[in-house]
Amino acid sequence: MRCPYCGSLDTQVKDSRPTEDASAIRRRRVCPDCAGRFTTFERVQLRELTVIKKSGRRVPVDRDKLMQSLSISLRKRPIDPERVERMVNGIVRRLESHGEGDVHSVRIGELVMEGLRALDPIAYVRFASVYKNFREAGDFSTILDELARSDSDGPDFTPSLHKLPDPA
Ligand SMILES: [Zn+2]
Repeated sequence: MRCPYCGSLDTQVKDSRPTEDASAIRRRRVCPDCAGRFTTFERVQLRELTVIKKSGRRVPVDRDKLMQSLSISLRKRPIDPERVERMVNGIVRRLESHGEGDVHSVRIGELVMEGLRALDPIAYVRFASVYKNFREAGDFSTILDELARSDSDGPDFTPSLHKLPDPA
């Protein structure tokens, strides 16, 4: 595994153990060249997943990007990271085990909305406030970009649930 800091190919595994729900193996690695430390995850992948963007372009489904956007919606919320991990696993598994390898970005958005609604109402509202702006465009990857860009307290919103669009 290449070192993300200096590019060395000679990184070493210091520790290897399953995550709490045993859905992945977490490996702590250290780079002997620059002493950089990082963690990798080994996960089951049932099949290759491709998201179809509104433009028609196909890109691989990016789990890390999904995690990142969720962590922004969940910022400072008292949610166990393991639950978020499980939710994302569930979403990915459902996408993998349903129909073809190609997934429309809208479908991913729906599953995230569904998951967040069960997980945390505030995070749901945060996500929804961005999601509704892009609903018409139907390009979920744009939402991810938008959420990932906002490094403050997330998008501006008033938590009035009755104003939310119906995610179904
Ligand atoms: Zn390095």
